[in-house]
This record gives sequence, structure tokens and C-alpha cells, in this order.
Amino acid sequence: MSTRSERACMLCGIIQPMKRFQVDGCPNCESLLHYTESGNVTQCTSPSFEGLVALGEANKGSWVAKWLRIDSFAPGLYAVKVNGKLPPMIVEELEEQSIIYRPRDGSAED
Ligand SMILES: [Zn+2]
Repeated sequence: MSTRSERACMLCGIIQPMKRFQVDGCPNCESLLHYTESGNVTQCTSPSFEGLVALGEANKGSWVAKWLRIDSFAPGLYAVKVNGKLPPMIVEELEEQSIIYRPRDGSAED
């Protein structure tokens, strides 16, 4: 299903080619993860993900968006499950900004 150059953001789950993360960053998390400046792409995105869901404008507020907890996210292709976790240092930075990171690899409990 996925090509090798595609990666999923571990924070929001959006799927983009690696190059796009490096050049444009994540449309949702760029202000938090600074992909374009810090070169965090390899650490904060994963080449291993499952279950693709397309989120369009029309899906905002839909059950799909709620299920993925991506109500306010940019339209795009999202992974339901992303294997891997953000580095602890990044998680701490997020917590300092009151962002609670929920790993998307299935280990988080609701
Ligand atoms: Zn993201």
C-alpha cells in the first residue's frame, strides 16, 4: 500500500512523501515539530503505518475525523496506525506547550 518514500507524521498521522516533510513540513504540526528547520523528519515520522483514511473538507467533524481525533487537521491522507514513537525529548517539548502526545502505534489507551 505504501511506497518507500512515504512517511507518516507520528503526531498527527498525515502521510506525505519524505521530501515534502523536509521541504514543506507537516501541515498540522510544523509549528510544534519544526520539520523544515530541525531535520526532525527521520525521528518524528515513520515509514511504517497502516490503514489509510482520506480526510477532506467534507469530512471535518465526521465520525472519521473524530475517530482519528483530527477534527481540526488539514485535509489529506492519514494513517490510522503509525508504528514508532516520538523521541522522549520531543515529547517533553510538546508537554511544555501543553500538547499531550498519544502514540498512534496502538499502545495508548483511551
Ligand atoms: Zn503532523
